Amino acid sequence: MNEKVRCLIIGSGPAGYTAAIYASRANLSPVLYEGMQPGGQLTTTNEVENFPGYPAGITGTELMEDLKKQAERFGADIRFGMATATDLSAAPYKVTIDGEKTIEADTIIISTGATAQYLGLPDEQKYAGSGVSACATCDGFFYRKLTVAVVGGGDTACEEATYLAGLASKVYLIVRKNFLRASKIMQERVLSNPKIEILFEHETVGLTGEGVVQGANLVKKKGLPDEEQVHIDIDGFFLAIGHKPNSDIFKPWINTDEVGYIVTVPGTPRTVVPGIFAAGDVADPHYRQAITAAGSGCQAAIEAERFLSENGL
Ligand code: NDP
Repeated sequence: MNEKVRCLIIGSGPAGYTAAIYASRANLSPVLYEGMQPGGQLTTTNEVENFPGYPAGITGTELMEDLKKQAERFGADIRFGMATATDLSAAPYKVTIDGEKTIEADTIIISTGATAQYLGLPDEQKYAGSGVSACATCDGFFYRKLTVAVVGGGDTACEEATYLAGLASKVYLIVRKNFLRASKIMQERVLSNPKIEILFEHETVGLTGEGVVQGANLVKKKGLPDEEQVHIDIDGFFLAIGHKPNSDIFKPWINTDEVGYIVTVPGTPRTVVPGIFAAGDVADPHYRQAITAAGSGCQAAIEAERFLSENGL
């Protein structure tokens, strides 16, 4: 027989765990499935210094473990497992876990996050947490007065390069085309910043360094007759080539934007399906911070509680 729950939370980053804390304290007996990366993206960063309440900082892994413990303390049922399919055509909604088991839920909080895109170089894995990052706001502080590179030519890359230029002594912006895709205002900020050097038509082929990133090997005008090998000395390598929201299994039922971010009613975590809420990075192309994700997880749990009580569930 299928299991039936009042509140199902899918995803275990700050949004999911915070939703679980609020939902369990509201007696919704939430069940949370952790997904492929328990703790979410934060577990791939080292020190988190900007989450309020930790004046000395905390590691991403510890922060997530604390949030999980806090949710469990109030009775949240946190399980290993991955949502692999959904049927949100009618309530109670159905979610398949690991391709096997089906859970029925009166409300669902989608907090599956977004996955930063990487170039796919083996060196990105080799130096993960040792100079390679996909979040300037999270890790930029560690590169004060050092030299960093940002890859990408969109708004995120320009924003991150500008942010990093406020901390680092020099920022290379590595762009594969001969133009920036970013909006005019973001381009102007980058172009007018004396600390930022744009390397147009450059592609990264490898990273170098003893244990930590100390340089990057690039190819200029790859495949053209005047192709050139270029080496830059850097201390940090930031990816800003886009994020992929983990929304695929919900797409038949709810609205997403052209990138895949779930569209919610502005200022709320409500989706177009009653009782289905989205919180955290899966619905947030703009802020993508642990604290904003946690805040929206709280909102989603409050919405779920109100939905259940208004509908006598
Ligand atoms: P985008 O998809 O807009 O840009 C991605 C960039 O990464 C492009 O320059 C792309 O190059 C480059 N890229 C992709 N793959 C590779 C690769 N394998 N190697 C090298 N470069 C690569 O993503 P963003 O994250 O910048 O933005 C996503 C959305 O969020 C956009 O709609 C953006 O406008 C919005 N946004 C808005 C902000 C704001 O308004 N303040 C801030 C941040 C984002 P190419 O151009 O060659 O394809």
